[in-house]
Amino acid sequence: QVQRALRALTIPLERLQVMKNHMMQAMQKGLSRSTHSQAPVQMLPTYICSTPDGTEKGDFLVVELCQSQVRTLMVTLLGDGNLSPQMMYKTFDMPEEIMKGSGEALFDFIAQCVSQFLADTSSSQERLPLGFVFPFSCRQIQLDKAELISWSKDFSCSDVEGKDVGQLLQSAINKQELSHVELVAVMNDTVGTMMTCSTEGRPCEVALVMDKGSNCCFMAEAHLVEIAKETSGRMCVNTEWGCFGDNGNLNDIVTPYDECVDNESSSPGEKRFEKMVGSLYLGEIVRHVLITLAAEKVLFKGSNVAILKEKGVVKTQQVLEIINHEEGLAVTKRTLEALGLPQNERDCSRVQQICLAVVSRAASLYAAGLAAVLTYMCQTREMDQLLVNVGVDGELYHGHTRFEEILQSVTKLLAPECVATFLPSTDGSGRGAAMVAAVALRLEAQRREVNEVLAPLRLSLADLEQVQALMRQEMELGLGQETNANASVRMLPTFVCSTPDGTEQGEFLALDLGGTNFRVLVVRVTEEGIRMASEIYVIPTAIMQGTGEALFDHILDCIIDFQTKQDLMNHVLPLGFTFSFPCKQVGLDKALLLTWTKGFSATDCVGQDVVQLLREAAQRKHQTGLNVVALVNDTVGTMMSCGYDDPKCEIGLIVGTGTNACYMEEMRNVGTVEGDEGRMCINMEWGAFGDNGCLDHIFTSFDKLVDDQTINPGKQRFEKLISGMYLGEIVRHILLAMADRQLLFHGKPGPKLYCKDIFKTKFLSTIELNGLALRQIRAILQDLDLDVSYEDSVLLREVCEAVSLRAAQLCAAGLAAVVEKMRESRGLDQLTTTVGVDGTLYKLHPTFSENVQKTLQDLAPKCSVTFMPSEDGSGKGAALVAAVACR
Ligand code: ADP
Ligand code: MG
Repeated sequence: QVQRALRALTIPLERLQVMKNHMMQAMQKGLSRSTHSQAPVQMLPTYICSTPDGTEKGDFLVVELCQSQVRTLMVTLLGDGNLSPQMMYKTFDMPEEIMKGSGEALFDFIAQCVSQFLADTSSSQERLPLGFVFPFSCRQIQLDKAELISWSKDFSCSDVEGKDVGQLLQSAINKQELSHVELVAVMNDTVGTMMTCSTEGRPCEVALVMDKGSNCCFMAEAHLVEIAKETSGRMCVNTEWGCFGDNGNLNDIVTPYDECVDNESSSPGEKRFEKMVGSLYLGEIVRHVLITLAAEKVLFKGSNVAILKEKGVVKTQQVLEIINHEEGLAVTKRTLEALGLPQNERDCSRVQQICLAVVSRAASLYAAGLAAVLTYMCQTREMDQLLVNVGVDGELYHGHTRFEEILQSVTKLLAPECVATFLPSTDGSGRGAAMVAAVALRLEAQRREVNEVLAPLRLSLADLEQVQALMRQEMELGLGQETNANASVRMLPTFVCSTPDGTEQGEFLALDLGGTNFRVLVVRVTEEGIRMASEIYVIPTAIMQGTGEALFDHILDCIIDFQTKQDLMNHVLPLGFTFSFPCKQVGLDKALLLTWTKGFSATDCVGQDVVQLLREAAQRKHQTGLNVVALVNDTVGTMMSCGYDDPKCEIGLIVGTGTNACYMEEMRNVGTVEGDEGRMCINMEWGAFGDNGCLDHIFTSFDKLVDDQTINPGKQRFEKLISGMYLGEIVRHILLAMADRQLLFHGKPGPKLYCKDIFKTKFLSTIELNGLALRQIRAILQDLDLDVSYEDSVLLREVCEAVSLRAAQLCAAGLAAVVEKMRESRGLDQLTTTVGVDGTLYKLHPTFSENVQKTLQDLAPKCSVTFMPSEDGSGKGAALVAAVACR
């Protein structure tokens, strides 16, 4: 019978594993918005988003509401790693009537305690931050805002439930004329434990409170805490796991003794987990085992055991001493003696076994709960292994090695991928509250500085409207015959006067020069759609930078090679040429090169007609079958290729290495070309917007640093705020500035970050990708010799977001000017149009396209704009320009 009782109290490892899984599911339910309200494990957000880093400094006041006392505490942190804070306490007894009186009286009393305490202490600080430990169930809304859900523990003050206790305390304190005392945090007692165990370089991210009650808190990924607003970084979650099992999850391990304990408690059916592990209950469980075994006549035979019926006669402290004490037997004897029970050796040894079983079970259950938290952390942080410090507090743990051993070893068995270091906390709740306040202040100061650095990058709607208006103005200047020369936006006519209508047919050649590769293509446009074949050719640097004749001879050799391979030698096919360099177009097949870019410098080309140069090369090679129909910019190619699938596509946009746009303008608005009928595609060359100084007010110090280090300072100013060649550089300069202000990398960025172009724009995509894969961010930064803390990586992400958001918003402001101009020219109340888009930044960045579209909607609400990513715009597009021209 004794064995049966012991077996019932022993939970096999597989069962613990199942319990761990249930706990993980319960935690997920508590965190999810849709299931939170019914979840037994509530997972309350605390709005504590960082642990101490040891640099916290200053005087901090704490007031703690206890059972029948108010404790006040002054903690002085020296910024030395929090190793030895100075502390001063004072405890005030609370008259019983206060606990049942009015809420106002309660908070006035607390404020008076604070006032009295401060009269005896000296702090020269102008502002005294206050942490308030309020150990009741609250709905936390902000760090310093918590609504009391309901009183417990004999408190029942009126007019407090549903109110913000932070506000109530602050008002009461203000009445005491202590205006320098400023409440910064309201918290539960559990989180304090976690906060006291962190020291320099050793963050503690989990806390277990193993006291009368049982609770656990840990740093969760903030985006998983759905009921709180924060989405980046981490937030401490107060699990309130004492209620685990209230929905039946523990039914298969609950014993009849637990049922008795539960029935006799003040809240039957509730807090089932806590009732199996809390020190308020362990003695009670033992008592019920003893009652049962005595009734079965296997214990205390022949004695009067009526005393055992009395609640609380077996103390948890005694149970712990019985199993831990070197002289456990003597303690057992003494305990039984005090109860007037027989103390023979056999009874004593059985009582010892029972005590051990009850305590072991509690330790194992704690281990299962902790393992659930650790595995959850490890999984949600996408780590293979989690190294973590666990702060522990409570009477079960301190000094009880048996309990400690079981807790640690079972945790290891249940969560082998996690390595937990247990750190006993001293004076958790009070000192912890001071730490919470201190961290809050540190973060607040840091936040202020971060905002200061990023403020110039954050554009308001009014700023963007102004950029839109300026772009519109520059567009008008660029289109005007007289004003064109002074406009920063060139507005080059392309002589493309129509977008595809879907009736185009035939076979075309296309060339694509000026992107990453030189390509020759054959494009077959049929009723069924477009088929293409292409070949990539290398242009050796010697040819790029040799004579113009050699360059165009090389291009022709490539064409001939391609025609031979494709068996096209005897066909005369119309040819479209995508030539992505700035040109002054005079006709569809006549374009004067304005300047080389992107590493090209072939002689005798600038100022020449590029089409003519190609035709001359054909003559030199005796190629009579070359029929160059059109020369197009890549923006135009992009618009045309999308236009084939969507006739509403009348805008082309590129956001890749650089940025540019084109759109269909009314001929009557194009002052630089004769004629008023119909429309013509205008290559805006908007990258140069602002080169005349009109955007100077939005350039930041970082933009100026980036510009200074380019080969064309002062040129392409708009492009330098937006495109792939520059965003990484902007971020790099911001990171250096933040490191300089000690906001990042402990103030030491390392030499690599000083190298130009080392921070790639594609890093922004990785870093901003949702879910914050810390591992990947770490990998990127390790390549840059940067060892980042978790908080560094959160801040890094914020910087990237600010830079890419601004780029997208500016791009949208430019587009807004375009679509509004189109709408007005056409006299429409509402314009529906499509933008064909190309460029790796636009296509691969996780939020860029979304941000462009959102901002455009805000800036041009009368236009409904669809974005269509182009497929091979420069190849297909050139052929389609040729096809449309032939049509
Ligand atoms: P181009 O503009 O020369 O025709 P792309 O459209 O491919 O070429 O753009 C290349 C640019 O895209 C590079 O300069 C780089 O900065 C940027 N880029 C490359 N990969 C990514 C990425 N994953 N996310 C954002 N930007 C990227
Ligand atoms: Mg391109």
